[in-house]
Amino acid sequence: MTTSSVTSRQPYPADAPASQSLFERARAVIPGGVNSPVRAFRAVGGTPRFVTRGYGPWLEDADGRRYVDLVCSWGPLILGHAHPDVLDAVRDAAGQGFSFGMPTEREVALAEEIVARVEPVEQVRLVSSGTEATMSAVRLARGVTGRELVVKFAGHYHGHVDSLLASAGSGVATFALPDTPGVTGASAAQTIVLPYNDVAALERALAEHGERVAAVITEAAAGNMGVVPPLPEFEAALRRLTRAHGALLISDEVMTGFRVSRSGWHGLAAARRAAAGEPDVEPADLYTFGKVMGGGFPAAAFGGRADVMAHLAPAGPVYQAGTLSGNPVATAAGLATLRGCTDDVYTHLDATAATVSAAASEALTAAGVPHLVNHAGSMFSVFFTTREAVHDYDAARDQDLGAFRAFFHEMLARGVHLPPSAFEAWFLSAAHDDAAVEQVLDALPHAARAAAAASGR
Ligand code: PLP
Repeated sequence: MTTSSVTSRQPYPADAPASQSLFERARAVIPGGVNSPVRAFRAVGGTPRFVTRGYGPWLEDADGRRYVDLVCSWGPLILGHAHPDVLDAVRDAAGQGFSFGMPTEREVALAEEIVARVEPVEQVRLVSSGTEATMSAVRLARGVTGRELVVKFAGHYHGHVDSLLASAGSGVATFALPDTPGVTGASAAQTIVLPYNDVAALERALAEHGERVAAVITEAAAGNMGVVPPLPEFEAALRRLTRAHGALLISDEVMTGFRVSRSGWHGLAAARRAAAGEPDVEPADLYTFGKVMGGGFPAAAFGGRADVMAHLAPAGPVYQAGTLSGNPVATAAGLATLRGCTDDVYTHLDATAATVSAAASEALTAAGVPHLVNHAGSMFSVFFTTREAVHDYDAARDQDLGAFRAFFHEMLARGVHLPPSAFEAWFLSAAHDDAAVEQVLDALPHAARAAAAASGR
């Protein structure tokens, strides 16, 4: 596949009348017109496209335009939109009833699939969202340790759990201030926010507060400030220091799980260490999953060592429950998706990510736009920065957002739907075939020139 600087398609017009009219209707009855803030295009301006249909790597919007989808529902759609096997599984399951509030074999099969893929996970509890998974994992960690504090890292997103919506002020170990009205100071005060990839900061915080820390929660590889993988020494320190201070380690694989390898970041990092001849790192105590394991339906999970999970009700005293947990239609979609995630799928994702990210970098270089591409397996993102490395949130935020905005809108006009924020990973799927990739490659040089024109503005 070659990068071509000439596209045969005419760009779409900047306005999108059908989406605009739907957005107006939406704003009357839904705050900000969307059901999750990042969908509103606030970071890039303009009107979010209202989707009518998705198939394979493509999205169609209310104005009848077609886009290559590089959002993939923010990660879940690893097989592409409406994959026939997933669709069949969903139809079958729905035909047998929507929800029972009683156990089903499918839940067992999905739990078995997760346990088989992620070796340190001996038991899982199914829930309905990644937020629920991290919230429940934190509660379990507090219940198991009898401690109250949680350590998280600046720029890591774990869903909209009160205590995890805190971000750092200045200083190395800061008791966090709430990031949003509605989160109490008391809740935020139970969270310590540290700079990511900073071993010394973690050492200091645990030396000072360690006996009160129930858990350290980390995105297995950060994907919510753009993609920022953990430095190998940081990964090793996370395990060593949590062990030393009796805190549990929670690895949040909601985004990376079953996406960056068949066993998520856990498997990818272990393989990298083995290949580099580095010593292995003991696994985390708890893991959280979502996105891919629901195949586009609301299914998520948290799990880990059996002795830790044994504290969960009804086996143990830590309460956690859900009317729709293990929903039969969602578990059917998740199971069909995971079963479809073969080695070939991961090989294709890796190759396609390499092609698209290299082409993006090449186009930006040709246009003279300073940038950096970070990878975590097949997840990657482009930072519009002059920095040579991005290892933490401060560095991730140091971007030319005007350049990104122009880049985003030019890609959109040329039929490529990127995440509408400079702080998000680009997601691919097994369905991104040559035609879809070609459309992305055709658009990139135009978008890079638009970014160059807007740079610094
Ligand atoms: N954890 C991580 C790492 C995530 O990326 C997300 C969502 O993007 C969540 C948790 C929350 O998941 P959900 O949006 O399903 O509540």
